Amino acid sequence: MKSVRRVMIKITGEGLSSSDGCGFDDKKCMSVAKQIKSAVSKGVQVAICCGGGNFWRGRQNNIIDRYKADQIGMLATIMNCLYLAGFLKEEKIESSIYCSFECGDMVKLFNKDSAICDLKNKKVVFCAGGTGHPYFTTDTAVALRALELECDEMLLAKSIDGVYDSDPKKNKNAKKYKTIKINEMVDKKLGVVDMSCSILCMENKLPFRIFSLNDKNSIQDALTGKDIGTKITV
Ligand code: UDP
Repeated sequence: MKSVRRVMIKITGEGLSSSDGCGFDDKKCMSVAKQIKSAVSKGVQVAICCGGGNFWRGRQNNIIDRYKADQIGMLATIMNCLYLAGFLKEEKIESSIYCSFECGDMVKLFNKDSAICDLKNKKVVFCAGGTGHPYFTTDTAVALRALELECDEMLLAKSIDGVYDSDPKKNKNAKKYKTIKINEMVDKKLGVVDMSCSILCMENKLPFRIFSLNDKNSIQDALTGKDIGTKITV
């Protein structure tokens, strides 16, 4: 029986990058690491799934075939996990990086039992490589791994600060939801997360919260139950 809180956090790639949305911004990476450290020191078991959008998103390419383009995206998620793990190490927080596919000795192949064992031993567990399959994004991977690792909650730190009734970049009158049911999100096709992620969460009754990684201390706020972003209920 698990008594300690276990949380899965998605870190979008763009949230680790500088204002042009590319590469790394060390201040942001440091801030994420410090917020994770604070959670771990309070006894929270933390799993992290990194996106890769600060390097590459398969669907944004229209030259090479999607299968290969998505493979490049999945490799980008590994780079983000390696970099963030380095920042955690500087903060004296141990971590293990698991990946959905073999990638030399840089990462370990994902294994539920050893990942859970690491979480119990106060190690942060990184889930790299997305689902390991093209045509998905890390939104779906994060839900999959949150279920596999029996997490109590799922926090999605994105570049948008919640769920809106229309795209706030295109409609300045777009309204942000404080809370919304997953089935309403699915019915209205609100595309803030992949449909496959929403459906996985709906079918397995996994609630989650979406908030902006760009808002100061947002991970910590979400972890301490502050009402930030949008709470997505089952
Ligand atoms: N990707 C994939 N399968 C997955 C997860 C990710 O093919 O299960 C690829 C896909 O090309 C995606 C890229 O990796 O665009 C980066 O992931 P994502 O777009 O989720 O990153 P984020 O935008 O959250 O940083």
